[in-house]
Amino acid sequence: MTKNGPYLSVVVPVYNEQENLDELICKCLLVCNSIERPYELILVDDGSRDRSPEIISNAVFENQGKVIGVFLNRNYGQHAAVMAGFEESKGEVIVTLDADLQNPPEEIPKLINEIEKGFDVVGSVRLNRADTIFRKLSSFLVNKTVQKATGVMMHDYGCMLRSYRRHVVDAMLMCHERSTFIPILANSFARNTTEIEVRHDKRSNGKSKYSLWKLVNLQFDLMTSMTTFPLRLLSVIGAVISITGMGFGAFLFLMRLIYGPRWSAQGVFTLFAILFIFIGAQFIGMGLMGEYIGRIYKDVRARPRYFVQQVLGRGIQKQGSSLELLNNKSRRSA
Ligand code: UDP
Ligand code: MG
Repeated sequence: MTKNGPYLSVVVPVYNEQENLDELICKCLLVCNSIERPYELILVDDGSRDRSPEIISNAVFENQGKVIGVFLNRNYGQHAAVMAGFEESKGEVIVTLDADLQNPPEEIPKLINEIEKGFDVVGSVRLNRADTIFRKLSSFLVNKTVQKATGVMMHDYGCMLRSYRRHVVDAMLMCHERSTFIPILANSFARNTTEIEVRHDKRSNGKSKYSLWKLVNLQFDLMTSMTTFPLRLLSVIGAVISITGMGFGAFLFLMRLIYGPRWSAQGVFTLFAILFIFIGAQFIGMGLMGEYIGRIYKDVRARPRYFVQQVLGRGIQKQGSSLELLNNKSRRSA
């Protein structure tokens, strides 16, 4: 928990957004001032090669104590940049949004309202999403897979206009794996989550910073952060191939008994059946190795086994937060 920190931290990852930054900073400050609670705006420069770092440092000097600049030495990707912002944040409530003004800063108060109702994570669903068909399709696939793998919790994992309580962000910072997909990680540490609908605008300037390759990378980050199931799939595929091979062998044997040796092309088909069985066995072997690799991966990642949100009955307790509502220990497996 934070001491003497502001109430609100707004974290924005920035990668080559020189055309949007002035308007973004202006709008964010306006909205944050209207909330009338202490806040900080954290702009994380993700190794931009344009004037973004310069604009950020100017904003820091012009709004001392309100705007914080975090500069990464090179481009690490949106989620890594947001994590860097989390590390620097001190607020009780943390809001993330994109720098390209697709997520209107005017929606921030709505997110805070929702958090104050006692939710740990507030996601958002983009109304009339203003993106290309290709992006919408890839988001659709992502949302469907995540919903299948984690049970339907949220409907739009791609929208980064979200808010989190401090303890969820602290828990995320305890995860030291390189590849992270923040919305899913956050949900695994949240007790109550909700979603609100938000406006979504066209990118005001510049192009999307996600090339096809970056998108593919993101999908892999998402998948590996969520599950080691694909490794197990190898065993399943192997078993299916082997069983098919055995079935084929039995079929050949039968046919051979009925129609004689000429029917099975002098044993060539039998070779196929044997081959199938061995290929299957190899897959099963790889799958078994995968099981061990999956376990090594989970241990190396060293996510906290569980996250205690609050302990009651030991000295001073925090006043006035939703955590007060809890009357037992919450243990979450990562
Ligand atoms: N971004 C980043 N590093 C990257 C790519 C993107 O910090 O390597 C930031 C970018 O500046 C923006 C946000 O992440 O603030 C979302 O990027 P973008 O708008 O290009 O993605 P899209 O809207 O196409 O999903
Ligand atoms: Mg965008």
